[in-house]
Amino acid sequence: MSDKGNLQENVKEQFRQYLLANGLRQTKERFAILHAIYETEGVFTIEDLQHIMQVYRFHVSTNTLYLTTQLLVQANLLIRHPFSSSAATFERIADDRPRSYQICSHCHHITRIKSKELATSLETYHPRSFAVSHRIVYVYGTCTSCQRQMRKQLKLAQGQS
Ligand SMILES: [Zn+2]
Repeated sequence: MSDKGNLQENVKEQFRQYLLANGLRQTKERFAILHAIYETEGVFTIEDLQHIMQVYRFHVSTNTLYLTTQLLVQANLLIRHPFSSSAATFERIADDRPRSYQICSHCHHITRIKSKELATSLETYHPRSFAVSHRIVYVYGTCTSCQRQMRKQLKLAQGQS
């Protein structure tokens, strides 16, 4: 089986165990959503997920998407990012590699940080008496386009005074 196939099987089994342990129903909707999420790379919102499910020609209500993503977060199969934008953003946990993101505090644009140095520091961090499930770092600041916009506004304000 391919790595991708293996991953799909592993997460399905993990979700099945979680549902069983919590006395929750194993519906085909829940597994279809899990499948779609694990075919998706990167960060997504519920609205994005709705579009993805449409591509798969699988109709599920927004409510089902909300509830299922909540379950997947609790089952440790999905990360809910604490980004300060209005829509909740999620990402699958495909492996235990550390993740780092930079987030613009103004426009909420998210970019993945590709720093080997940061990844190594995160990987080698082993706190005592704390079982790490995943490693994520968020760096907040101002993106280049927002910086440009701010400079433009400042120039305008200075010109007016
Ligand atoms: Zn920005």
